[in-house]
Amino acid sequence: MAAMAAPVPPGPVPPGHAAPGHACLAAAGTADGLGTVAARAAAEALAVLGAFHPGPGDGLPAAVGTLVLLGPREPGFWAHVTAQPEFADSRPDPLDRWSRRVIGRLACGLGAKAVFPFTGPPFRPFHAWALRTGRAWRSPVGLLVHETAGLMVSFRGALGLRARLALPPPPAAPPCAACAGQPCRTACPAGALTPAAYDVQACRGFLAGPDGAGCMTAGCALRRACPASAGHARVPAQSAFHMRQFLR
Ligand code: SF4
Ligand code: SF4
Repeated sequence: MAAMAAPVPPGPVPPGHAAPGHACLAAAGTADGLGTVAARAAAEALAVLGAFHPGPGDGLPAAVGTLVLLGPREPGFWAHVTAQPEFADSRPDPLDRWSRRVIGRLACGLGAKAVFPFTGPPFRPFHAWALRTGRAWRSPVGLLVHETAGLMVSFRGALGLRARLALPPPPAAPPCAACAGQPCRTACPAGALTPAAYDVQACRGFLAGPDGAGCMTAGCALRRACPASAGHARVPAQSAFHMRQFLR
């Protein structure tokens, strides 16, 4: 599972990519503000994790005035999503199929274009887009760290709206600036993910062995060690789902 320029560790969401999904970028666009987008997303257990005004280098149509990134709204995301039909039909990739359906519907309701981080090639630069929001940064170990989700940040999709929405100012500094001890630097029990590098094979080998049970059942120990992730903790079943996805 990897995808962007930076090493991508095992975790909740496949590394940032996406391909065009629903294309409901209506000629009329939308006059809804970011608060309206957030409220509609919240009704689907999704949170607005950042937004920005795309430019020529962002890989989006010129008609997109604002790109809004959506991810799990915690707590409660897993209980909500696993009660949806996609998790009851025994077909593969229920989370991605749910994301397509729900975010696609949000897009059409807002006259927007939906894009997703799990379809491709071509893959969309969700990692770079997250950095563009000013609400996520490159952590000491290379993973994205988000202002409220910490190292647990993940994206289910994004909405490209025609309107150039007013956006709140981003935080002045990443959480890492005030993080005592920066535990992510040494939290990987396999030594697979460090500030120097991400050894994917070492990680996978550790997970497949008996010592990997903790990461497999509770999620990546390094991600869990991040204090900025505390408000975005995932239930064990959610972490286990993503770890199985990573190892398959
Ligand atoms: S553990 Fe601290 S330094 Fe590492 S990503 Fe989290 S906030 Fe930043
Ligand atoms: S071995 Fe565990 S803690 Fe280390 S990167 Fe892999 S999942 Fe994360």
